[in-house]
Amino acid sequence: MKPSMHGKVYLVGAGPGDPDLLTVKANALIRDAEVVLHDDLVSAPILALVSPHAMVVNVGKRCGAKNISQAEINGLMIASAHRGLDVVRLKSGDPGIFGRVAEERDALESAGVPYEIVPGVTAALSAAASLGVSLTDRRTSSRIVVITAHRAHENESELPTDWRSLAANNSTLVIYMPGRNFAALQQELLYAGLDAETPAAIVSSASTREQREHCTTLGQLDNAPPMPAPAILLIGRTLEHAARSATNSVPLTWESLLDAAEVSIAETNSNQNLERSLTP
Ligand code: SAH
Repeated sequence: MKPSMHGKVYLVGAGPGDPDLLTVKANALIRDAEVVLHDDLVSAPILALVSPHAMVVNVGKRCGAKNISQAEINGLMIASAHRGLDVVRLKSGDPGIFGRVAEERDALESAGVPYEIVPGVTAALSAAASLGVSLTDRRTSSRIVVITAHRAHENESELPTDWRSLAANNSTLVIYMPGRNFAALQQELLYAGLDAETPAAIVSSASTREQREHCTTLGQLDNAPPMPAPAILLIGRTLEHAARSATNSVPLTWESLLDAAEVSIAETNSNQNLERSLTP
């Protein structure tokens, strides 16, 4: 502890879950932090990087400290910094995307606490990468609309989403916190003029071992199976690629590999056999 000095608060993006997707900077800050205040969605392998000497508090709204308010989180950050401790406020994905980082920044500024925002890989980018999709494939998409379907509470005002101005043939919609019942959203988007054949994909736990994807179309979205949280919904013509790969994905067998390589050999029971037959 550094009693005479002010600590600093780092508002850090933990990425989508895979520790390999942390930035080098985030990784170092997490290891060195004296206090870590993290959200529910920060994955266990990332929390395992925290020093055993650090004070770690789950300030998440879901299964962490149940009724912790934003003001209390701000208070914890400020009090720790005033005691000379370096704090990592760890948020899933990027702290600036549906992460309330602006409110925390304002509180730190008002208290005169030095801070730094460290970006992270947001869920949309991780989901797109895992589907092999470019969110701005110039042949199909000239804009990305990042939006939440979640209706805010805690006295925040939120205007109804004007889907008509957002949904367009050349947009990729990325919907955070999409909920589980897609019927209302589907109706809104169809009403806004999107084609029922527009490809859509739901990606759950992107970048982690639990990752699951479901590729569908807007017209079939209400029949999508329930996907475990956290899940993100992507809609747009650029998702055609994901749909094609999903339909075409067949389990890889030894025989199919040989077929694809147009290799014909009598016995193929070991790697050695394959290596020998493929070597010119
Ligand atoms: N700051 C985060 C978003 C926080 S809001 C970010 O930049 O990613 C929480 C929502 O993010 C979840 O409801 C879900 O829609 C999405 N999300 C977060 N992590 C995810 C993951 N690994 N896979 C899929 N969606 C995820």
